[in-house]
Amino acid sequence: MSEARIIDGKAFAAGLRGRVGAEAARIEAAHGLKPGLAVVLVGENPASQVYVRNKSRQTGEAGMNSFQHTLPAETSQAELLDLVARLNADPAVNGILVQLPLPDQIEAQAVLDTIDPAKDVDGFHVVNAGRLMTGAGKPLVPCTPLGCLLLLREHAGDLKGQRAVIVGRSNIVGKPMAHLLLGEHCTVTVTHSRTRDLPSECRRADILVAAVGRAEMVRGDWIKPGGTVLDVGINRIETPEGKNRLVGDVAFDEARQVAGAITPVPGGIGPMTIACLLANTLTAACRQNGLEDPRL
Ligand code: NDP
Repeated sequence: MSEARIIDGKAFAAGLRGRVGAEAARIEAAHGLKPGLAVVLVGENPASQVYVRNKSRQTGEAGMNSFQHTLPAETSQAELLDLVARLNADPAVNGILVQLPLPDQIEAQAVLDTIDPAKDVDGFHVVNAGRLMTGAGKPLVPCTPLGCLLLLREHAGDLKGQRAVIVGRSNIVGKPMAHLLLGEHCTVTVTHSRTRDLPSECRRADILVAAVGRAEMVRGDWIKPGGTVLDVGINRIETPEGKNRLVGDVAFDEARQVAGAITPVPGGIGPMTIACLLANTLTAACRQNGLEDPRL
């Protein structure tokens, strides 16, 4: 069998960022509205610092305002909630993102619950989660699963009736992914750490989404021949030469011998996540100002 087609998330994300930038420019020209994203970082987690820097830079490049708030690691929950309340009330801020993880003294759920659902561009507020689950109203959808869906629509043909298996049931990736795929009329199985015979479940997947956080756990013989594999995992491993390398949750070299199409790590889902954050910020700004959703 020939090797799988590589799904180039980096290229698709660049295209999406370009469309967001063009729509942002059109909306600013027509309505004088320049969307703004506030990104809040508490503490000095190095990975979070990199994510926040990238988010702020790409927001600016898309022609939108970026407001970065960096707070010390010892910030109290009350102080953070106070900042969120001020951002909720600020009309120049259309999207609010509080970078996770937060220091131990702050309960993440309390913070997420405080963000105005209309500005919740991460899509983690229970109101947005509820809208996604029920199909009632228009949710802001979590960025990583939204990125997965956009790539699937582009690369996996008609999704209707396809059998999708998701490995992982987090609120950030696995569960919203399941609801998005149900919305596309897939037949969805969600698996997790207590699933019996995970390889057999995976082998039935026309579409396999791996969001586990375990380096190369999904092996080549877990893949349905010709299936589409989306690898959400980002794991840092040490090579035998003592170097650091990023790998996904899927054993890429094995899986690409079996799958029909597969996302690489890096360069697959990762770039889609930030592109979808920009798209969500623009969408949020339009909705807050009574405009139609942007054409992306
Ligand atoms: P979580 O740790 O919140 O969830 C992991 C899920 O995997 C849980 O549901 C857990 O099951 C399940 N799991 C763990 N071990 C096993 C196992 N041995 N067999 C089957 N299922 C298992 O992780 P996230 O969803 O937040 O992230 C998953 C991965 O995606 C991580 O590598 C993360 O870095 C990456 N990620 C990448 C993003 C991107 O932009 N590309 C964005 C977000 C995440 P249980 O519920 O039973 O514990």
